[in-house]
Parts: sequence; structure tokens; C-alpha cells
Amino acid sequence: MNNNSLVISIASGKGGTGKTTLAVNLAAVAGAVTLLDCDVEEPNDHLFLDVKWGESREANVLFPRVDTNLCTGCGECRKACRFNAIVILGKQPLVYPELCHGCGACFLACPEKAITEVPRAVGVIERGPFRDIEFIHGRLNIGEVKGPPLINDVKEAARGNDSHVIIDAPPGTGCPTVEAVRNTDYCVLVTEPTPFGIHDLEAAADMTRQMGVKHGVVVNRSDIGDDRAVRFCEERGVTLLGQIPFDRKAAEAYSRGELLVDALPKYKELFSDLWQTILKEARNA
Ligand code: SF4
Ligand code: SF4
Repeated sequence: MNNNSLVISIASGKGGTGKTTLAVNLAAVAGAVTLLDCDVEEPNDHLFLDVKWGESREANVLFPRVDTNLCTGCGECRKACRFNAIVILGKQPLVYPELCHGCGACFLACPEKAITEVPRAVGVIERGPFRDIEFIHGRLNIGEVKGPPLINDVKEAARGNDSHVIIDAPPGTGCPTVEAVRNTDYCVLVTEPTPFGIHDLEAAADMTRQMGVKHGVVVNRSDIGDDRAVRFCEERGVTLLGQIPFDRKAAEAYSRGELLVDALPKYKELFSDLWQTILKEARNA
């Protein structure tokens, strides 16, 4: 990445606010850009892009393997594990994969050198171009809970790209969202002007503030509720980046898997203006 390129994350306190719509349409008008779909449990940006898939590779996390011939059952590994991923059963450690964070503490703690770290596949990373977009996404294996390491891998896959980066973050404010938003230059929070929408916007704004990531708000379907999202921005001193009214034709285009900027001419201007506003805010962040 060169010094002028920016990393913009797009997040929302809950799903269904239009975060994907924003990410793919901004990418489509941004010129040369890298788009990362980090919603690894349910990636769907690619449904709107005719990606010419190229590279596909497994993403791994390190997982401890115990050599039972060397293990004395001392329990030091269990004590070292702050995620309670290890129990000692019949003088042998048992590691729960769904609790293990691959931190390596047990490996370091074992006095008998009985633990080795082996790669365990948690998902795949796929990439390919669509128009001026370099698109990369991660897909978590079914039943797998290790979203954050895969998200980190997706972000690493974009390292070295000489363009702005747009990150479509997972919805919510949990560890996967935090991982996606971490170290981004600016975060766009997408919301709806409803009581639930504002409740989740507050949580998302608190998250970005605590992470030290400057943020602004886009109100989607801005005419379905009241002005509480606007008031929220005024009261908190948060930039209101834009408002997108509900549009039945846009909803129909979305349901057909079409980019709004392709389906309806007015959206090309709307998303181009919004992208310029976001870049300006991010540069001043
Ligand atoms: S790698 Fe870390 S999280 Fe996993 S079992 Fe070892 S100490 Fe626990
Ligand atoms: S620390 Fe090493 S020797 Fe002790 S129980 Fe764990 S694996 Fe076995």
C-alpha cells in the first residue's frame, strides 16, 4: 500500500442494515480498489460481483498436539491456558478445538516438550478481480468458530496492494467485528432510523471509539423511521456521511443480485459522492 491509500471499514451493530450494499457499490465506483469481505461466517459480497476467481487457499490456525509418549500429565499446560481449552483426563491433556485460540502458551509451558503446534484448517481465502476491484474474501468452514484468525488472514492477503482498501466487516460488535475494524483508517457505521437500529448504532460507535478508529454514519432506508439517527450524530459529534432513502426499485435490484450503481443511474452519483466524502473524512481523521 502506498502512503496515500486508506483502509476503510464498513460495519453495523446488527445485520440487515445494508452494509453489504454499501460495501459493494462503494467499491464499484471507487476506481482501483481492494474489497475485502471479512464477514467470514456468511460472505455474500461476491453474489453482486462477477468475480474471475483466481487464487484459492486454505487458512490455518496453529493447534497444539500432545505426544502421549513424552507427556507426564503434570498439568502445566492446563494451568498456562487462559482460555480453559485444556482438561487433564486420566493424566493426559485433552484440548477442546472450539476453545483453543492457538496462542501457543501451552507449547511454551510444557516442561517435557511434549507439545507441538500443527496447522488446522479453519476456512479458505479466495481472490480474483472484478472490473477495477481486487476482491478477496474468507469463508469459515461450517461449524468452525475461529473467525478472527481467518479475518486477520484476509486482511494480510491485501497487504502490499497499492490501492485503497474497503473492508466489509461482520455485523455486531463481537471479536470478529473488532478484528475486521482494527487498524483501519476510518469506519463507516451503517444504521437504520429505528429504535433497534439506534441501539445497535450506539454499541458500534462505542466499539469504534474504544478502538480509537474515527467513524461516521450512513443512515440507510432513512425515511422508514424518525430523525433519531441524525440526532444521535449531532449529540455525539459524529459525522453524518449520508442518508439513503428506501427505494423499492433498489430493493428489487438487490434481490436480483445487481449492483445499484449498474441498475439505477442515480446511485452512481450517490455512491461516488459518498465515497469522496468518506475519503475526505478519513484523510482528516
Ligand atoms: S494454544 Fe493457547 S488456547 Fe490453545 S490450548 Fe494451548 S494455551 Fe490454550
Ligand atoms: S505440560 Fe506437557 S507434560 Fe505436562 S501435561 Fe501438558 S503436555 Fe503433558
